[in-house]
Amino acid sequence: MSQCLICESDYQPFVDLGDMPIANAFATKEELVDEYTFPMQVGFCESCHMVQLIEQPDREKMFHENYAFFSSTSNYMKEHFKHFANSVSELQDLNKDSFVVEIGSNDGIMLQNFVIDKIPCLGVEPSKNVAQVASDKGIEVITEFFDQPLAESVVRTHQKADAILSANVMCHIPYMHSIYDGVKTLLKDDGVFIFEDPYLGEVI
Ligand SMILES: [Zn+2]
Repeated sequence: MSQCLICESDYQPFVDLGDMPIANAFATKEELVDEYTFPMQVGFCESCHMVQLIEQPDREKMFHENYAFFSSTSNYMKEHFKHFANSVSELQDLNKDSFVVEIGSNDGIMLQNFVIDKIPCLGVEPSKNVAQVASDKGIEVITEFFDQPLAESVVRTHQKADAILSANVMCHIPYMHSIYDGVKTLLKDDGVFIFEDPYLGEVI
């Protein structure tokens, strides 16, 4: 019996996919000998309907200086995030005094659009290699994991945000309560938090 990460109800796994390596690990022959794996058991909480992994892989094993996925390699994604950023600008009427934060900003594929429009923004991205690409585009990036203490520190060093954004990030994070506490701390009263993640119904 496991406890739901969201509502703490007891729930059971419904599928066991065995020991899995980290996706996109691209281990060499030598590394394969003792490659990191985690037991991929998936459960469904009948109380809040959250589908979740029973055991979470270590976050440092997923996001690090050799993270393999650079979002900007996809032209489709570039267009998508340009549209995403422009729609947020319009929604929140953003200008040079506004502030946008992205959780998991990768190589700056989203935030580069705010930089072009001279809207102040900050990326939070723990994978140093992709974060460096964003920095090279003139985007300010903090190479840390986002949580409540980090949100408090950003409020002190910057200001509260008109918009907090994330794409394909929330689904990787088990400590949702700290994330939402952080979002609440960092958002202005009329700020918005917009996140985009895959929907399991479509994946299946
Ligand atoms: Zn639940």
